[in-house]
Amino acid sequence: MSSNNLLLTPIEYLKGVGPSRGELLRKELGIHKYGDLLNFYPNRYIDRTRYYKINELQNNVAEVQIIGKIINVKTVEFAKGRKRLVATFIDDTGQMELVWFQGHKWVRESLKLNEAIVIFGKCTSFNGMYNMAHPEIELWSEHQQSLRSAMQPVYPSTETLTNRGISNRSVSKMMQQLFLETQALFSETLPDYLIQNLKLIPKNAALFNIHFPKSAEALAKAQFRLKFEELFFIQIQLIMKNLIQKHKIKGHPFTKVGEFFNEFYQNHLPFELTNAQKRVIKEIRTDMGSNAQMNRLLQGDVGSGKTIVAFMSMLLAMDNGFQACLMAPTEILANQHFTGLSELANKLNINIKILTGSTKTSERRIIHEALENGTLQILIGTHALLEDKVKFQNLGLAIIDEQHRFGVEQRSKLWKKNHIPPHILVMTATPIPRTLAMSLYGDLDISVIDELPPGRKPIQTVHRYDSNRLKVWKFIRDEIAIGRQIYIVYPLIQESEKMDYKDLMDGYESISRDFPLPKYAISIVHGKMKPADKDAEMKRFAEGKTNIMVATTVIEVGVNVPNASVMIIESAERFGLSQLHQLRGRVGRGADQSYCILMTSHKLSADSKTRMETMVRTNDGFEISEVDLKLRGPGNLMGTQQSGVLNLQIADIVKDREILSLARAHAIKILSEDAPLQKPEHATLKAVYLELTKKKNIWNYIS
Ligand code: ADP
Ligand code: MG
Repeated sequence: MSSNNLLLTPIEYLKGVGPSRGELLRKELGIHKYGDLLNFYPNRYIDRTRYYKINELQNNVAEVQIIGKIINVKTVEFAKGRKRLVATFIDDTGQMELVWFQGHKWVRESLKLNEAIVIFGKCTSFNGMYNMAHPEIELWSEHQQSLRSAMQPVYPSTETLTNRGISNRSVSKMMQQLFLETQALFSETLPDYLIQNLKLIPKNAALFNIHFPKSAEALAKAQFRLKFEELFFIQIQLIMKNLIQKHKIKGHPFTKVGEFFNEFYQNHLPFELTNAQKRVIKEIRTDMGSNAQMNRLLQGDVGSGKTIVAFMSMLLAMDNGFQACLMAPTEILANQHFTGLSELANKLNINIKILTGSTKTSERRIIHEALENGTLQILIGTHALLEDKVKFQNLGLAIIDEQHRFGVEQRSKLWKKNHIPPHILVMTATPIPRTLAMSLYGDLDISVIDELPPGRKPIQTVHRYDSNRLKVWKFIRDEIAIGRQIYIVYPLIQESEKMDYKDLMDGYESISRDFPLPKYAISIVHGKMKPADKDAEMKRFAEGKTNIMVATTVIEVGVNVPNASVMIIESAERFGLSQLHQLRGRVGRGADQSYCILMTSHKLSADSKTRMETMVRTNDGFEISEVDLKLRGPGNLMGTQQSGVLNLQIADIVKDREILSLARAHAIKILSEDAPLQKPEHATLKAVYLELTKKKNIWNYIS
């Protein structure tokens, strides 16, 4: 009989827990049932097989244990009326102090001089002498006899838990009780052949060793097994979701390549497509031509030419009698798409309009009507497109630009705009490392534009300190003199918005002084301006009427002014790598040599230095995002903040990316051979899968 039913027992029934502790466990750790406790894994282990010598100690290493003896004990007054107990502890390599701030009398009586003992605790050094405060002490003779697991687990905790007396030891005790009550008969979750092939340890053994490791080796095997399992089941769910979509969700098959597409391709294409663009258009065409709904992520570095791909996909929708829409994260960007795409659409007599928060009511009415009666073929816009009032006659393709600004929910909102969901194309310029893309967008098919249009000169990037500003300014004057335009960007980060705003305005004033009218004209754009004013300023800059654009990161995404050749980023150390890369992508869009200048102060953290060096070294967005992922971890990776990060129990996407690849490969293999999981050897797998999908939607992993 397996213990699995017992795992549904409420946690307060566990002996030694009870209602009040149960309440705490629920509130603080989300442990509701026996099963939750079982899956509550230690976040580190202390190696109790290792004994340190005093001369091996380093400051603030994790807890250590040392064998030695106490040779004297004294009470020291260290402040008026405040005493502490200090013992001198020696081994054959040196001496150190043991210190107690409380419980002197009782401690003093229990200390045995000149007898072999083992002390355990955290060491710090003070005035060249190591000391350990409130050590755990055990007689060596007793220590040798006491049974302990070699690696002692340390569980995650919270301040409230510690204050309410639920120590690491109490959690360990609960865990022991749990294993006792359930007899540790936990059923296997992975197919036998997979366990054999990958030499995994059984689930039972893994759970036992994660909580009570017999050795470092056993622990490593347990961790591998549980990490693999966790990632494997996420992949199974994601891939299954994708398969189900393909089967169940009928799309509009765009079977025709017709007049719009061909006319454009033959007569109006403004440039020769790159091979990557051609390949991706083909992928999209095939996908939309099938009976299933397309759900595709289009990744392409800044400036790789995603817009034309989007446009040509829209033409396919129209060739098949459908409408298309494109949603951008900001008004500036929506406007820009509208301007660019209108030019192309007008050549084909396509009716195209824009809808944003600032669209006038009268215009709105016209748009709503034209959408419903089908005379409006392409609608560009912002979040405004998601409003319920916006109804299409037959939306066939919805394109979302710069995915990371939108959540998953918005994606699905677009879906509901039609009886049959439209094909969805999500475009992102934030290159997401493959490993992360697999986990976050495992349900999407991925197309990559991995080639820049020809003739682009790589942007030259330099890092300059504030003290070099005069030289930088001279460089700007020279560039302006030959007709180029300049961006100067200031950080604007929400928490310190007031400060940043002041920095921006101070910067603007001093730039205005250094680049005075009438010789120079300066634009400024920031988040506090009215959309109409922002647009007017952007327009002036885009038309070449101003030389310098002083801005916050509102210009980060998508803005296209090919004549701008210099991007100066102020306080560059305050930006993340992806953001720096996005900003840099605003230049280098024309035929001229472009530059990016990262201005920082002299004081830089190690991470900031790495960021600057990476930017100077490479223009490759994928390489940059890999470094970013390593530096910051997936939780902070730009682009994952909104779309969410996997909320994993034991695996770590950054550190365990190899296990992730392995898990994904096996998940793909299994589902490509037996998608319904009908084979007898997949019975367990199917049961676990059904349990998981019943319990939580896959998107719950993505918090
Ligand atoms: P992004 O992928 O960043 O959205 P865009 O679609 O805005 O890039 O394209 C960047 C610039 O490159 C635009 O000015 C666009 O007209 C131009 N472009 C795109 N594809 C090509 C190509 N195949 N050849 C030449 N220029 C191109
Ligand atoms: Mg773009």
